[in-house]
Amino acid sequence: MLIKTMQVGFIGTNCYILTDETTMKSAVIDPGGDSNMILNYLESNKMECVAVMLTHGHMDHTMGVDNILRETGAPLYMHRLDWAPPKSRVMDYRYAPDAGVDCRFYDEGDVVEIGNLKVRVLHTPGHTPGGVTLVCENAMFSGDTLFRSSCGRVDLAGGDASTELASLKRLAELPGDYEVYPGHMDTTTLAIERVYNPYMVAALNGVTEF
Ligand SMILES: [Zn+2]
Repeated sequence: MLIKTMQVGFIGTNCYILTDETTMKSAVIDPGGDSNMILNYLESNKMECVAVMLTHGHMDHTMGVDNILRETGAPLYMHRLDWAPPKSRVMDYRYAPDAGVDCRFYDEGDVVEIGNLKVRVLHTPGHTPGGVTLVCENAMFSGDTLFRSSCGRVDLAGGDASTELASLKRLAELPGDYEVYPGHMDTTTLAIERVYNPYMVAALNGVTEF
């Protein structure tokens, strides 16, 4: 398993390229812009993009999607609750793919195979209704559900504090440890966040609002 981090788009969102090095098949997670830089990386490393996967529908995670789908022919995976019909002019948390895109909805418990890698979907709403966390081996792509020492905003459209805290509690209670690859800022580990993340600690202590 190879993980390449690229900061893309207008606020430097983390885009991750997850690759099974035995087949060189890749998933592009949250291409929030700079699609040509992402495509160049795939091509120069002889990686085949077989999926674009979204942690949620916010624009800073999706601005590069259309171009990558067009250039690679890969399908798009996202949660239905963050989806809007093609061509709809939404300016909230929902993403409207181009017409004709092979859009596949994933939900809690689904598994997407990237070569020999298995990516498991956890539905972790709160930042947006259709937010997911993607888990592959010891890596967790947490989108804007979980950041190092913080979490995503809940005051935007579709956000909900108590739902977000429930998602953080749920992640904290997963057995074992994971490398956490969040949608913004630095990587961390779940073990560190269980102890030092004030929102996760509050959620573990039964807090349901903030
Ligand atoms: Zn977001």
